[in-house]
Formats: sequence, structure tokens, C-alpha cells
Amino acid sequence: MSATVLHLLNDAFPGKVVTSGSDAYDNETNTPWSQTCWNPAGAYVQLSSAQEVAEALKIVNKTGTKFSVRATGHNPNAGFSSVGPEGVVLDVRRLQSKTLREDGIAEVGAGNLWGEVYKWLEDQKLSAIGGRDRQVGLAGFLLGGGMGAFPNLYGLGADGIKSFELVLADGSIINANAKDHPDLHRALKGGGSNFGIVTRFDLDTHPLIKVLYTIKLFNPSDYENIIRATISAQEAMEKDNRIGLFTNFNNGFVAVGLLYADWPEEQPQAFEPFEKLESLMTTLVPPTRGTLLSLAETMGHAQEPKKRRIGSVTTKVSFDLYAQVYEAWTEITKTLPEGMVLHYTIQPVGEAGVEAGQVRGGSAMGLQKVPQCWWVFTCEWPQAVSDEAAERAIEEITDKTKQMAQEKDLLLDLMCMSFATAGQKVLSSYGADSLRMLQETAAKYDPTGVFQNLQNDGFLLKNSV
Ligand SMILES: Cc1cc2nc3c(=O)[nH]c(=O)nc-3n(C[C@H](O)[C@H](O)[C@H](O)COP(=O)(O)OP(=O)(O)OC[C@H]3O[C@@H](n4cnc5c(N)ncnc54)[C@H](O)[C@@H]3O)c2cc1C
Repeated sequence: MSATVLHLLNDAFPGKVVTSGSDAYDNETNTPWSQTCWNPAGAYVQLSSAQEVAEALKIVNKTGTKFSVRATGHNPNAGFSSVGPEGVVLDVRRLQSKTLREDGIAEVGAGNLWGEVYKWLEDQKLSAIGGRDRQVGLAGFLLGGGMGAFPNLYGLGADGIKSFELVLADGSIINANAKDHPDLHRALKGGGSNFGIVTRFDLDTHPLIKVLYTIKLFNPSDYENIIRATISAQEAMEKDNRIGLFTNFNNGFVAVGLLYADWPEEQPQAFEPFEKLESLMTTLVPPTRGTLLSLAETMGHAQEPKKRRIGSVTTKVSFDLYAQVYEAWTEITKTLPEGMVLHYTIQPVGEAGVEAGQVRGGSAMGLQKVPQCWWVFTCEWPQAVSDEAAERAIEEITDKTKQMAQEKDLLLDLMCMSFATAGQKVLSSYGADSLRMLQETAAKYDPTGVFQNLQNDGFLLKNSV
């Protein structure tokens, strides 16, 4: 990275520019969730206000410097929120403001974690729709759509965004909402980092959401019954939007999260098929009357540093398809090198979730109103094992799932940004109309293409077809 840029950054942000040769630099480099993103940058700039973000963007723009924007670095795609020695990471983690307006809207800085926002809101007996893990950052989650524990209750995380404060390519700071820049408001809901750097999200809040949850581990050999129980809960979801569920097929166990957005006297009937399974190995988390925060704390355990890669597919709901995916996964796992784990999660979204988003103004994502499964495939491996096998495994399982779904006419176009691997054409998957809308919006708000050309990588419009 050029000495001029470093000089300008140091001048503008004394004490906030971290370069190599310090513990702080190693910490910055090793922040991302996946070691595939531990790519030492030329500099990390720790920004703590929208004005500072604007100033930093002006400097990188003026000097033609490559940059990445990072909230908490949970996206495992190398180069998205990381950049090599030639570039600078604009780190927004310190944008941690939290203000509750009289009208109940929560204005929260883009650097907050979901755990921090849930805690602050719950102290005021309120909730917002966010992630299932306390450590995940607001920014990447919300800009990619964001699936919470109960997608059918109030829609996706992005559906609850009343307004974005963001810094445009020319350094101006604007708000995008239903009244001001409504085109940008819609585009940002699922449109990722193509339009500007978001500095604040204004979120809809709800009276405190109580959560009854339990996590059970089953023996994978019973996969047919586990899938039947999963599908039965998905069917029940279409009638009761308080049901939440995840079924994670993993190395030697299947983890099932049975979630309900209230504290009923008894475990909801929808979960009975799981109670009857004889393949229960253990109840990892006993039935707990908690909240979104306590659930996110339960889910958000510290994870070992590992390399990670993910992939996304969306399909309709079908026993035969779910069973075929399990069988394909079993075959692929046999070919993996020692130390590498491939696991996947069935994440249901119901019609009510899609409708809840439409009622709130819709997003860029073009969701179809059908019961669906957002599959996420995750590969994790240690540094010593080669990356190629992981790339192959993710490609093979996503391709096979797509192909099997297509043969049964069950494939949906959508790929969710939160769960997609770098090469997946996420923005195209939203449909031609959405893609055109996103392209037009980017051309209007970033006419010189700073976010396409200087931004290091991401689900960018320039790579979307
Ligand atoms: C343990 C774990 C649990 C997860 N749980 C869920 C879940 O429950 N539901 C779900 O939907 N997803 C979940 N995810 C996926 C997660 O939402 C995405 O990885 C998301 O991108 C992470 O957000 P981040 O702010 O940490 O992202 P980062 O990695 O920091 O950034 C992700 C992308 O957003 C861009 N970006 C970041 N900040 C800004 C900004 N302020 N303005 C513009 N662009 C920005 C970056 O440049 C990058 O392209 C989970 C991921 C992990 C690792």
C-alpha cells in the first residue's frame, strides 16, 4: 500500500490506523470467523462515526486504494471483509451507538453485535429481529437479508429496517427510508455492500419476544424419521408463525433446535414427532423459557479457529428431496480428508415469513411465497489440510442438491447472501427485475462505480451475471 495513503490516513485518524508489527495488527488480522480471511491488510482503520467513515472513503477514493468494509468479519468468503497488503480494511466495529426513539424505533450503529442489541433492547422489554448467534454483526447480517430464529413472525431481519444511514461513494451521508431515497431503502434490504457503507440501522422493535427452546441431538442413522419430524414441524409452521426450527446434520449427530416464540404451558404439539424418536442421543439444551438473547447466547459459543466455507441452496419442502440430500452428503463426507467436516442445516421459511416481508415494503430478494428450505452447507477444516477438498465438497453438495431439486421441480432460484459461497450469483438469484433495480440504484447512487471497482470483493453487481 502506498506511503501517501498511509500518511493521509494517519493524519486523518491519529492512533486509529493499525499497521503491521504490533499485537493490535495481529488481532485485527485474526478477527474473522474463518481463517480463510486471515489475510494481513496494508492497514486497518478503526472508524467510530459516520463522519470518520466518510473521511476514510474520500481518502481511499481519491488515492484509488483497494478497500474492504468489515463489521465483525463473520462472512467466510476470503476478500469480502478482508483485503491483502495492497489494501485497507475499513473497520466499522466501533460504530456502537444505541438510541431508542419515542416511536419505538431502535437506532443502532452498524458495528453492534446482535448479542449487544438484544441485551440493550431486552432491558427495555423489547426485541428486534436479528441473528441466532450473539457474536454475529448487524451489518453483514442485515445487508444480506438476515434469517432469525422465527422468520415467519415478522419476516427477515432486513424487513424490519425502517431506515439506513449510509455513506455514499462521494462521501455524503444520507438516510434511505420509505420517504427519502425509497429506491435505495429497498435495494439495501438484501443488496449487500453495493451502494455505500451503512453506519446506522433504524430497526422496528416489538414487545419482548419470549422464547421456549430446546436443542436435542439424534443419531443420524435415524435420518428418515428425523426428516419426517422436520417436515411435520415445517407443515405446522404454516399454521403457527411462532414455530422456529433448525435441523443440522453433522459429524456423528443431528442437532435439532425446537423453538417457540412464546412460553406455552407445554411443549407445542408441532414438536411431538421429535419427542417420539427413539434415536435421541442426548438433550443438549433442556427446554428453557428464555428470550432471543438467551437463545443467541446458547447458540453463540466460542468456536475454534478453523478455515470455513459455506454454500447456499433454496428449495421447496419434500421428504424425498431431504432424504436424497442426506444420502448425497453421506457419500461426499466419505471422501473428505482427515480433519475436515462437512455439515448442513435445514432452515425453514414459511409463507407467512415471505408475506411479513412484503407487508413491510418488500426487499431486493424476490422471495417466492411458498414453504421453503434455505439449505446452508458448511465445511470446516484445519490450516494443515488443503483448501481444494473443501471447495470441491461445497461445490459438489450444492450442485447435487440443486440438480436433485430441479429434477423434482422443487428448486427455487434464491441464494441467501448470508449462506452463499463467493462464486454463487446471489444477486442474479433474486430475479431479473430485482437485478435490474439493483443495477439502476447502484448507477444512481455510485455513478463512478467506487463500490464495484475499488471495493476488494463481495457479492458485487459487477460479478452478478
Ligand atoms: C456463527 C455464525 C452464525 C450465523 N448466524 C446467522 C443467522 O442466524 N442468520 C443469518 O442470516 N446469518 C447468520 N450468519 C451469517 C452472517 O449473517 C453473515 O456471515 C454476515 O455477513 C455476517 O455479518 P458481519 O457483519 O459479521 O459481516 P462481515 O464479514 O464483517 O461483512 C460481511 C459483508 O458485508 C459487508 N459489510 C460489512 N459491514 C458493512 C457496512 N457497514 N456497510 C456496507 N457493507 C458492509 C462486508 O464488506 C462484507 O461483504 C452466521 C454466521 C456465523 C459465522
